[in-house]
Amino acid sequence: MALPMPLAGVVGWPVAHSLSPVMMDQWLAATQCDGRYCAFAVKPEDFSRVIKTLPDMGVVGVNVTLPHKEAALKIADILSDRAKAVGAVNVLTFKDGHIHGDNSDVIGIETALEPVTHRDLPVLVLGAGGAARAALTALKSLGFSNIRLTNRTRERAEDLAQMLSPSAQIYEWQDKRAVEACGLIINATSMGLKGQNPLHLDLKGVDARASVFDMVYNPLKTQLLDDAEAVGLTTIDGLEMLIGQARPAFEAFFGVKPVEPSDQSVRETLVSALGL
Ligand code: NDP
Repeated sequence: MALPMPLAGVVGWPVAHSLSPVMMDQWLAATQCDGRYCAFAVKPEDFSRVIKTLPDMGVVGVNVTLPHKEAALKIADILSDRAKAVGAVNVLTFKDGHIHGDNSDVIGIETALEPVTHRDLPVLVLGAGGAARAALTALKSLGFSNIRLTNRTRERAEDLAQMLSPSAQIYEWQDKRAVEACGLIINATSMGLKGQNPLHLDLKGVDARASVFDMVYNPLKTQLLDDAEAVGLTTIDGLEMLIGQARPAFEAFFGVKPVEPSDQSVRETLVSALGL
């Protein structure tokens, strides 16, 4: 039996660290929407069974976080073009007896990169995992065409280029020439994440108008962003993407666009939830 109010959530393993409930709850209150948003801790081996049960429990959709993004691609029977391009799903919605899969990480990256001008300059993407795939898809839709890729495991960068950006130039990991004349640098690796090694880049030779976008949001001010700021470059942190990817999911679940709360911005709430 369907619940009288839309119920949605985030599915992950583990899931306690997810900031999605904090964001969604703030938007639910600001839009005065009578919905609920929960965190569901689901083990990989239980993912398929649990997802198939959720619609019968009145759940209208879920955000999907690690390690389930590829399993979510497989379980969806209708995929958006974005999800197909990226090869991963981070939003599932249950409608008309179907499981719809979308990838709103692409929208999150588009939101973060919207202010970046000079789209004719080279862009360096570091990484070749799911976030890098989403980045290449977003860059294409935003009109960046001069793409450079570098990844610790070179073959993964080559495979990624072949799949999403055949004209991309591949650079060896830590090849200093990769940043030369770049107008945008994107860290889509897990380097810089709390508990991981920081990412140090020699930013000499980067275009003076360049922006540096680090997808990592914990810590918010990474070594890379510190280094970029020190040489006067524009910096974009990972919270822009996090908030940007959550907005379309909220609308898909609850049928209204999220509005900024009047008391404290979602960004401020996330910063304090991160203990920063
Ligand atoms: P994946 O596990 O799919 O990819 C990880 C990438 O990091 C690979 O390219 C891997 O290289 C590289 N890497 C890992 N460790 C090292 C290292 N020690 N030295 C060099 N390269 C390394 O992760 P995702 O693509 O899902 O996520 C990547 C980053 O993006 C994470 O930091 C994640 O937190 C962030 N992210 C942020 C989001 C946001 O909303 N702000 C949303 C999604 C992700 P290799 O191929 O050689 O293993």
